[in-house]
Amino acid sequence: MIQRAKATINGIVQGVGFRPFIYQLAKRRGLGGYIANTSAGVDIEVEGDPGEIEGFFQEIHLQKPPLARVLHVERQFLPPQHYRDFIIRKSLIRAQRSTLVSPDMSVCDDCLREMNDPQDRRYRYPFINCTNCGPRYTIIRDIPYDRDKTSMASFSMCKRCQEEYENPLDRRFHAQPNACWDCGPTVSLYESSGRPVEGVDQISEARRLLKSGEILAIKGLGGFHLAADATDEKAVQRLRERKNREEKPLALMSPSIEKIREYAYVINQEAQILQSPERPIVLLRKMEPNAISSQVAPRNCSFGVMLPYTPLHNLILHGGFTALVMTSGNISEEPIAIDNEEAFQRLSGIADYFLVHNRDIYLRNDDSVVRVSGEKMRMIRRSRGYVPVPIPVEKNMRPTLACGPFLANTICLAKGRNAFLSQHVGDLENLETLAAFEMTIGHLKAILEIEPEVIAYDLHPDYLSTRYALNQKGVVKIGVQHHHAHVASCMAENRISGPVVGLAMDGTGYGIDGTIWGGETLIADFHHFERVGHFQKAPLPGGEAAIREPWRMALAYLYQAFGKDLFDLPIAFVRNLPLKKAKLILTMIDSNVNTPHTSSCGRLFDGAAALLGLRDRVSYRGQAAVELEMEMGEDEGSYLASISEERGELIIPHVPIIRGIVSDLLRGVDRGIISRRFHNTLVRLFTDVCIQLREQRKLNRVALSGGVFQNVFLLEALEGTLGKMGFEVYTHGTVPTNDGGISLGQALVANAVLDRQRK
Ligand code: ZN
Ligand code: ZN
Ligand code: FE
Repeated sequence: MIQRAKATINGIVQGVGFRPFIYQLAKRRGLGGYIANTSAGVDIEVEGDPGEIEGFFQEIHLQKPPLARVLHVERQFLPPQHYRDFIIRKSLIRAQRSTLVSPDMSVCDDCLREMNDPQDRRYRYPFINCTNCGPRYTIIRDIPYDRDKTSMASFSMCKRCQEEYENPLDRRFHAQPNACWDCGPTVSLYESSGRPVEGVDQISEARRLLKSGEILAIKGLGGFHLAADATDEKAVQRLRERKNREEKPLALMSPSIEKIREYAYVINQEAQILQSPERPIVLLRKMEPNAISSQVAPRNCSFGVMLPYTPLHNLILHGGFTALVMTSGNISEEPIAIDNEEAFQRLSGIADYFLVHNRDIYLRNDDSVVRVSGEKMRMIRRSRGYVPVPIPVEKNMRPTLACGPFLANTICLAKGRNAFLSQHVGDLENLETLAAFEMTIGHLKAILEIEPEVIAYDLHPDYLSTRYALNQKGVVKIGVQHHHAHVASCMAENRISGPVVGLAMDGTGYGIDGTIWGGETLIADFHHFERVGHFQKAPLPGGEAAIREPWRMALAYLYQAFGKDLFDLPIAFVRNLPLKKAKLILTMIDSNVNTPHTSSCGRLFDGAAALLGLRDRVSYRGQAAVELEMEMGEDEGSYLASISEERGELIIPHVPIIRGIVSDLLRGVDRGIISRRFHNTLVRLFTDVCIQLREQRKLNRVALSGGVFQNVFLLEALEGTLGKMGFEVYTHGTVPTNDGGISLGQALVANAVLDRQRK
């Protein structure tokens, strides 16, 4: 008896070696039939022994190639057709269009082995790749994913490469970027003036230059990096000065886990993530003392570290470095440079030399950043290696574009049960980033074939993303409140629908009452939210200036806690106050001039940090809060503060917290202890809010979202405490808890609102 089965497989199954894998699998099991690419993925028919067919389908899941993602399999049985053989069917161009493209993946071990083999024809070839590795997303201009639709189109394969490409049994079968010394891209080294460095092995020369303290702009997979020897204090110092990046930590790249262990602690889970084909930057705890320049991550307990992910990185790194600084090739706040000419223009004031290549990058894609906390991988920046893998959602969605927030912008395109979160776009505050934002939307729309019918946007009327959304024609436009989007994003990631108690704790988001929110307790489901509580409001003297200068926040909080008596407090913060300016600020607060009010939790962290003398001004977002967390010591205590109810809302007070900190300061308590008590207090107050809401509303599910939950201590302690009290706690993992996750929430909320309206 023979059987014939047909399967339609959905997922990332094109250009990742899926067809040869199926071909070999079918052959091995003696099955006839075919495999063909389709618009959704692949179609497979197999015919033969029923037991072999069953085994065949099981093996697909267990043995599939590393880059393949199977999202959905639909199977049916048909009358036998008596296939004589199993074949890979050539697909027609139209029928081949697939909406799912693989992310860029790090060079695989097989390719590295060949690259390091003097007998191999690709010995030391910096663009070696195969079906299981190499660039994908960043080189695609359009779909279907075929060589002529990628930036490899300008290189025609030599005879040997072509043979590999066409042979289903070769590990380079349909590897679109396949290339070699004879036919593929090459690197070239230039001085910053644009004069080529010739007559040397350019990669060895680049290594030598790095060793002698020069700064190199190196073209990578998703953009340029600025590189310097991380153990060279002067080189790193120079890079910082030129890049105009005062204190923000710089990313490192080391040749191996062993080398990383010379300067940072690496637990097993972290080692696994570092070595995964996605190769993100992982935040690791510093080992002290260490050989890395103190300029790499000043006043920070962690290093952001990655392993080499392109063949070129491997060639450079294996030259005796402990670590290179590999920071994104941009001037602070601008998008990362991707194009050779653009890089020369923008980076010539920073880099001494340029190591470029002639394979174009179509789409910029920064390095992803993750950390492990509570035994879970937490995405901080979801970009290279992860995008454009869809995030599966429970609800069926209309074709939707969500424009994301203002800071750390990502966009989200959604359709059906897939939500595609874009790579990191950046802060939408200049025209360069706006251009990157529009380009990302256009590109994703094209390669995912999603023409949005719905556009979701933030409520802030002045955001560039909001203006972009409102300018679109012929679509339904739906505004989504920032913190509702945070909570919805957490619900979507965890595939729950609500209602939940959502704690959305962050720096800034536009509230529905026109004030600035940022420490919100919501009861939310996807289509609706109710603001049931928030932090006590505080003045934000000078608006943006108060965000850049946490000392203004500390002053504002002190003023609310002590009135004008604050000037009599014998604490260092008050002694060091610029008196004239401080009085001016109090006048501003009193007369409500340029002083919006905010219920932000992030600002309270800023204020506390400034009060402890940790930081008066910040040079990057979240810096004061990070340093407050880093300062933390061991203590069980907390400050006497409790939730109060005002007009039906649960208010988390800051006045008693500030008073507690001041009284500790007066008694000379160590600031590490104070920081710990501050954190403990928040954990207790957040827990109290949840308990009260459980009593009032019978809700036991809590979703935690917002940038404040990047604070590892706060997240772990709160998750632990709530867990012990019997709450079901939902947190972020693969979607960032910061504003990088907002667009996902916007997409779901907009769809839920429309569903509701149409009922
Ligand atoms: Zn490979
Ligand atoms: Zn070739
Ligand atoms: Fe936010």
